Parts: sequence; C-alpha cells; structure tokens
Amino acid sequence: MKKQSIKPRLIAFEVTRRCRYNCRHCRACAGYAGDEKEPNLRQCKKILSAVAKYKKCVIILTGGEPMEREDIYEIIQYGRGLRLQMVMATCGYLIDEQSIRKLKKVGIRALSFSLDGANAETHDAFRQTKGAFDAVINAARIAREARVRFQINTTISKANLDESVGIAHLAKRLGAYCFNPFILVPTGRGREMVDEIIEPLEYETLLNELLRIKLESDIEIRVTCGPQFARVCRQAKAKHLTDEVKGCMGGRGFGFISCTGDVQICGFLDVSAGNLIENNFNFGKIWEKSQLLSEIRNISNYKGACTTCEYVGVCGGCRARAYAMTGDYMAEDPVCSYEAGSKR
Ligand code: SF4
Ligand code: SF4
Repeated sequence: MKKQSIKPRLIAFEVTRRCRYNCRHCRACAGYAGDEKEPNLRQCKKILSAVAKYKKCVIILTGGEPMEREDIYEIIQYGRGLRLQMVMATCGYLIDEQSIRKLKKVGIRALSFSLDGANAETHDAFRQTKGAFDAVINAARIAREARVRFQINTTISKANLDESVGIAHLAKRLGAYCFNPFILVPTGRGREMVDEIIEPLEYETLLNELLRIKLESDIEIRVTCGPQFARVCRQAKAKHLTDEVKGCMGGRGFGFISCTGDVQICGFLDVSAGNLIENNFNFGKIWEKSQLLSEIRNISNYKGACTTCEYVGVCGGCRARAYAMTGDYMAEDPVCSYEAGSKR
C-alpha cells in the first residue's frame, strides 16, 4: 500500500452556524439563533494564516450558511492574499447579482450549492423550508451567468435515493461542473435520520450507477462520505480513475476546523484533535502531532471487515459513520457490504 501524504490540501472551515434553514441532516445543527460560537474576523484571519503555512491549500468556507456573515468578503479576500484557494459551500439563498459580483471581486474560486432533491417537494422537505428549491436553482443560474464555477452537493438518504440520477442530470442542466453526492452520516440533526441511511446493497448499486455516469457523462462525479467509491472504481478496473478517485482523506489530505477552533478529521466526526485558540493558532502542531490523527492515519488499527479488506488502503471506510453508528471510529463502516477476499 502506498504511504499517504498528510499534507493538508483541502480544509473546510466552519465560519458560522447561522442558517435560515433547518435541514434534517445538518451535522452542524445550524439555525438562525445566535452567533456566540462564531470565530470573529481576527480569529478567522489567524486561522487562515496558520493553514497557509501549507502551500496551495484549498479552503472550503462552510457553515451553517457562510453568506450570513457580513465580513465573508473580507475573509475571502484575506485568504486569497495568503495564496489560499477560497471556495464556499452555500444553500444559495443569499446569492444574487450583487453578492455574486462581490464574491468574484474578492477572488472566490468556486461555489457548491446544496441540492437534495430533483424537485421542490423533496428538496424543501429535506431543508424543512418552503421555497428552498427555487432559491438554489436561482442561485445556480446567477452563478452560471456570472461565470462562477459551481458544483452540486447532495446528501443521499432513503428519502432521495430514487432521485439521485435525476439530480445528477439536473446538476448538468444547471451548468455545474461536478455532481457530488454525500452519503448520509447521522451526526448533528442527522442523528434523527439513522433509519434513513441507505441499505448496503442499495449503496453498492448507487456507487456503480455513479461510476457509470462518471464514465459516460462529461459532468465530474465525486463522492463524499462514500470512500467505497474508490474501491468500486478499482473493482471495475476503471484504470484512469484509480489514481484520481480517493477513499477517505479525513486527517490526511483533508481536515476540518470548527467554529470554535477545533481541528477535526472532518466535520462529520465531531472529535477534536486539538483546539487552535487554546494552542496559539498552531495548526501544524495539531495536524502533525495529534494523537487522534496519528491513530486514525494508522489503517492497521481499523476493525471489523476493514481489518482484512484488501481495499482498506484505498478506501479506509468512513470513520465518522462508524463513530456515529457504533461509538467507535475505528470500527467497520456500517454501509459497506464488501467481503474481504471477494476481489474481482
Ligand atoms: S471493508 Fe472497509 S476498507 Fe473495505 S471497502 Fe468496506 S469500508 Fe472500505
Ligand atoms: S470520515 Fe467519512 S465523512 Fe469524514 S472524511 Fe472520511 S469518509 Fe468523509
């Protein structure tokens, strides 16, 4: 197995937990009340400066809804000044002609819009907000017209599994460069959705369907919280994809900084490797020396089916889903049906 680099290439930074929506799956339990946990502008700048010591890092501004911060433009501009690539995950309800112009001006590189249904009924029910579907479709149109690259993020559960291919087609029609399904991890408000996690066999079918779309269509397909997609690509011997499609990058190339300054492998595994504010914003020290991160990077410690799986080095299983569903982040990923030794 190839030794994986731990240099962070992609860091999601939770700049707020404010949001006007009340999405059923929200890992951040975001809501409209209060911003007492939010890092102030000075702290945001210190955090970005700390991460910028690693060259060429991409920062995903996330939330809550990052556009709820009035100083979001200043944060983006500051990151750009540090030569960070600044992108943002948004629900889209605050994207209009004026805000997209300002985002472009301060140097946003790309956006991701959350779209959880192929129609208003499914999406609005997921977001528990009427009009959410129209808002995101409108935001995508505005981004396309302003020539800002965007992708579509979709959390997949039993509620929208049947629409996943339809959402991929809709993403293409909207002008997205990428369709990025997230396989539900039941954390935050999503804990209430544990029964809506798709079954292992349905999941396997979905991954193969996504591979088919990836091979046949010119829209890019990435799968988040679904590291088994890396295994499926290798099983299908989709050769040109084997280097491109990675399994779980959490704690390796990918990391997460919460709105309270906690460094995590990802936003879905709510266990802190160390707090930036308490550690004088020394991101490198936490990233390279934390016991939690060393433990998670050591795949030989993984348990259950992942112990003997010949794909553990490329997939790794989702540590966050293992933790959310079993209480042990080293356990096997409950949505995976692969049996070791059945390599084709
Ligand atoms: S058994 Fe574990 S490592 Fe193997 S494919 Fe499944 S989740 Fe990935
Ligand atoms: S632990 Fe799961 S959600 Fe987190 S980065 Fe890995 S695959 Fe994604």
